[in-house]
Amino acid sequence: MLEKIEGIVLRTRDYGETHKIVTLFTREKGKIGVMARGAKKPKSRMSSITQPFIHGQYLIQIGSGLGLLSQGEMLSSLRVIREDIVKAAYASYLAELTDKLVDEKQPDPFLFEQFLKTLQWIAEDKDSEILAMMYELKIYRKAGFAPKVDACLNCGREEGPFSFSVVEGGLLCFRCKQRDPQAYGLTDPLSRLLRLFLHMDVKRLGQVSMKAENKKKLRQILDEYYDRYGGYHLKSKKFLKQIDLFKDND
Ligand SMILES: [Zn+2]
Repeated sequence: MLEKIEGIVLRTRDYGETHKIVTLFTREKGKIGVMARGAKKPKSRMSSITQPFIHGQYLIQIGSGLGLLSQGEMLSSLRVIREDIVKAAYASYLAELTDKLVDEKQPDPFLFEQFLKTLQWIAEDKDSEILAMMYELKIYRKAGFAPKVDACLNCGREEGPFSFSVVEGGLLCFRCKQRDPQAYGLTDPLSRLLRLFLHMDVKRLGQVSMKAENKKKLRQILDEYYDRYGGYHLKSKKFLKQIDLFKDND
């Protein structure tokens, strides 16, 4: 039976001379793999609807294994992302993270919306670094290893100042911070931002501005956190780091 499914292309790999296997993140079915016959032929319609980050409505024959992509209609091309190396690097990173951390065929319309909106904001020139951190925290929660950022994880105290402990997995208040001498001290606005990033629907993102040093600190915390709990090596992250270095130097 053919089903009409809204999805975003997470990744593709070649299959034989002319076909591609496409991993889609979909609203209705979660992450699924589909066979796209003829998608390797450069000018085919199948090729145009299976580019990375294409957001489309797809007609798919769902089976127990790989689905079969019958046809598709583009909803938004998000072409701007593919044409900008930094934007593409961020999008590839978030797509790889999603591909690695989300189980197959487990629908999560909220996470789908977050991913779609994040890509749309990146295309519209909103701050990719901030968007990436917001999405990362949500996907950590989905994967079951979100940091505890609502209160001190040891005593439950809700007033700051807090430190962030990677080893303990979240915030420690000033009384409990001796549990981890390596914990990062956070200003109150920064610990509030961390909470906001975890809980706020990305659709509601207005103007969030962060000082460069705060972004750098949060980035470092999240990187260490992921390295400890995330478990999968991400090729796209390495590339993103290289690109970002270039960006800082020019
Ligand atoms: Zn405490």
